Amino acid sequence: MKEHMGIFTNPDIEGYLGAEPDLQPEQLSERIWTISDGLCRTLFVEADSSVIAFDSFGTPGKARAYRKAIERAVPGKPVATVIYTHDHLDHAGFCDDLAPDAEIVADEMTARVIDLRGADGQTGVTCRLSGAKHRVEFDGAEFLLLNPGPTHGTGNLSAYFAEEQLLFSSDTILPNARYALMPDYHIANFVRFMRGFLELDFATFVPGRYEVTDRGRFETGCDYIEAMQNICQQAFVELVSIWVMDAMAEYVTAGLAGRFGDLEGFEQHVGMTSIRIVHHYLMGGWSLEDTPEPGYLLADQ
Ligand SMILES: [Zn+2]
Repeated sequence: MKEHMGIFTNPDIEGYLGAEPDLQPEQLSERIWTISDGLCRTLFVEADSSVIAFDSFGTPGKARAYRKAIERAVPGKPVATVIYTHDHLDHAGFCDDLAPDAEIVADEMTARVIDLRGADGQTGVTCRLSGAKHRVEFDGAEFLLLNPGPTHGTGNLSAYFAEEQLLFSSDTILPNARYALMPDYHIANFVRFMRGFLELDFATFVPGRYEVTDRGRFETGCDYIEAMQNICQQAFVELVSIWVMDAMAEYVTAGLAGRFGDLEGFEQHVGMTSIRIVHHYLMGGWSLEDTPEPGYLLADQ
């Protein structure tokens, strides 16, 4: 069977791409389920006569496994709408294998990246959203889609379900310290935009990786990234060898372990994350996303 290849070029990758794990959804409310492949987490919503699925997972096999899990959880209702939280292939790369005829909803900037990248298997966007806040209704299911500005990836849309007091924000705040090198995070405004979500009345937080958590751990996540930004700046003051991961890990651990050392993964990840953050301050950030007022990256501004 010929698999969609994403952006892979090595033909030996096909076995990896085709493997279909058994994915088990977990029901969070009458209409909302969450599901993880062990790397990424997403959710889907039962509507009147169809299902709204967020993202597709990162291989064709996992996308098919996702479709089968949805069919078991919500029998007789097809996936008619897919919402891409952001452009990344590990979350949203293979809708051709999930629901190729569905309406595909995404932020305008996400849609542009997907068009220009042309990854094999990443279905193009059919419904483009522009701006920061959308009250959407698909087949009787209502909720909010929010893009406060560059946070992670391109055009990242978070979803807020008022009835369930639930926030879903993919690949932003994690329930632990496993941020690694924070790939494609936009540090300049990240914590400010994330803290903005605290204006919403949510008790449950569904992250784009790891386990479902709560508002308290979302706040701790914001505090952790902010504290990491502060201590990484302090490392310049103290003339720490900012290029050396061991030196940064030792310095940042000494400063942050008291407050954040109990976050799962802290010890393994603190060095990598701090190396990423010092480079933000060294270089001024990465591209337009890291300017102080990046609102113009929303398509209508
Ligand atoms: Zn991502």
